[in-house]
Amino acid sequence: MGLLQKLKVLDLSNNGFQGILPSSLGNLTELIKLNVGFNRFNGRIPKELSSLKKLEFLDLSNNCFSPFGVPLFLSEMVRLKEVYLSRNKLGGQIPEIWEKLGGILGLGLSGLGLVEEIPSSMGVYLRNVCYLGLDNIELEGEVHEEFTVYTAGEELISRTIDAYIRRSKDSRSTKNSFTTVDCQPSGLARVADWCPTLSQVGGLGDVVTSLSRAVQDLGHNVDIILPKYDCMNLSNVKDFQFHRSYSWDRTEVKVWTGKVEGLSVYFLEPQNGLFWKGCIYGCKNDAERFGFFCHAALEFLLQSGLHPDILHCHDWSSAPVSWLFKDHYMHYGLSKVRVVFTIHNLEFGAQLIGKAMAYSDKATTVSHTYSKEVSKNPIIAPQLHKFHGILNGIDPDIWDPYNDKFIPIPYSSENVVEGKRAAKEALQQRLGLKKSDLPLVGIITRLTVQKGIHLIKHAIWRTLERNGQVVLLGSAPDPRIQSEFVNLANQLHSSHNDRARLILTYDEPLSHLIYAGADFILVPSIFEPCGLTQLTAMRFGSIPVVRKTGGLYDTVFDVDHDGGRAQEQGLEPNGFSFDGADPPGVDYALNRAISMWYDERDRFNFLCKRAMEQDWSWNRPALDYMELYHACHK
Ligand code: ADP
Repeated sequence: MGLLQKLKVLDLSNNGFQGILPSSLGNLTELIKLNVGFNRFNGRIPKELSSLKKLEFLDLSNNCFSPFGVPLFLSEMVRLKEVYLSRNKLGGQIPEIWEKLGGILGLGLSGLGLVEEIPSSMGVYLRNVCYLGLDNIELEGEVHEEFTVYTAGEELISRTIDAYIRRSKDSRSTKNSFTTVDCQPSGLARVADWCPTLSQVGGLGDVVTSLSRAVQDLGHNVDIILPKYDCMNLSNVKDFQFHRSYSWDRTEVKVWTGKVEGLSVYFLEPQNGLFWKGCIYGCKNDAERFGFFCHAALEFLLQSGLHPDILHCHDWSSAPVSWLFKDHYMHYGLSKVRVVFTIHNLEFGAQLIGKAMAYSDKATTVSHTYSKEVSKNPIIAPQLHKFHGILNGIDPDIWDPYNDKFIPIPYSSENVVEGKRAAKEALQQRLGLKKSDLPLVGIITRLTVQKGIHLIKHAIWRTLERNGQVVLLGSAPDPRIQSEFVNLANQLHSSHNDRARLILTYDEPLSHLIYAGADFILVPSIFEPCGLTQLTAMRFGSIPVVRKTGGLYDTVFDVDHDGGRAQEQGLEPNGFSFDGADPPGVDYALNRAISMWYDERDRFNFLCKRAMEQDWSWNRPALDYMELYHACHK
């Protein structure tokens, strides 16, 4: 067989191979079709398969694979077109791998053992699928109405999707529950995102980047337009180059282009120096600066002939786009453009936000509960008919403990205990804390009143009383608050040097190690539109302890109280939460959390694994945004 380098089809099914294949398989660089079904792989992937980069068809059915035994190298097989995993031991879970297999055409998941519903997020992964085998999957619940199969690309649109679904308990066909959305591979929605920053200031930059990536992954063109701040770190911008120059309001505006996380970004640099201030926000003339930017950006679209379908603006700094567009630019030939406006935080620039709400075609905020909490606000109330809550997500590639250079060993939910133990030791070592197995509470936050400063302080003392360790990474824009925390850090330095560390700065690499090394991440916000910290915590298998408000309420389900509410979302409880904005409130959640760590370690470890396996990526929210973008054009 060593000589057969160009074999096309190889059927090794039913042969009792036990996770090992002839090593000469590795020479078969041309192999297109491989059937290794009905062997005894017991969930192990023969390493010889990893060199078969040309493989288009792979049958792994009947081999006892678990969701995590599905090898990562499958995702590198960009040519893989059909893969069969029927009758393995996937235990009702869709392997994470599908998100990487966007181009897959045929997929066999029969006998999966899916017991509840097909995750709606699968629709994102399966946008090219034209054969889908799902028979004999023992569905007990509904096939999710929003499970959407996208057929992208004209060639595929004409083909029918063969979806084989049979319920074991109810023989009604569920075929009609599928909605099929036909999208052009690109250009249907050209989305221009407006965002004042590339990630330095809180979560907004993260959100714009990761949402744009998710929308782009669904096959649409996305361009981001930003001011070119002099204080911007351009080292993560690829192919940064001068693009053109144009003139507006007697000012020359230089346009630079580049790629950020695979997204195309235009940087506008007006030569009047409005963005040469050494800061992003916080200048006396911020309204003038961002007003100028919004106007200049619309002018740029017009002068360069860019005609997006959607302009998606975020918060007060890009609010003027909505009325400048409707009052002026709509009449200058950009007539098919629709404006979507997203509120990330109503605390800042409420007046501008109110005006943008009135002018935009659709408005959103970043969680369902926050949308309800602000619905009575006089600037929101008149616009409720076009106002929706769509949860933010996190980018699972950016936050990925399996692939993170800032933590000591890669881990997934399979080896979460081992991975987190190593990360905790590395964190203790780095911060000079006692290296011992104690419950560790992490806090990563801007230190502002919104984030529940008094509750944070209380929780630090409470954790120490319970013989735990605390690490706080935070910085305060307000110098008075910063100095309060500097004092607290000094006090703790003398009283609890081996168990508490406050790092009062912004440090993203360190945040990764804290997310990985902490047992709990505390988010006691007074209000929280969505919150990313609790989502990132779960991605790293840390258990969120949160106040029940806004997006925290929508994403964290208390182990003792929220079983039913979690189930309604197709989830299981994943953390601890409390109501009041006072010390007894925090104590109620924190005490239960720490007690579980001390007294029920197996249950705690299982909870970490479960939290890690929940999907808080953009898969689902990106589809909601797509629906919204489509609705704007109806
Ligand atoms: P907000 O946008 O209100 O600050 P979010 O929870 O939406 O709150 O986003 C906060 C983001 O900023 C998270 O990704 C968190 O990890 C990060 N972050 C906050 N403070 C720091 C810090 N001091 N160092 C590093 N990252 C931080």
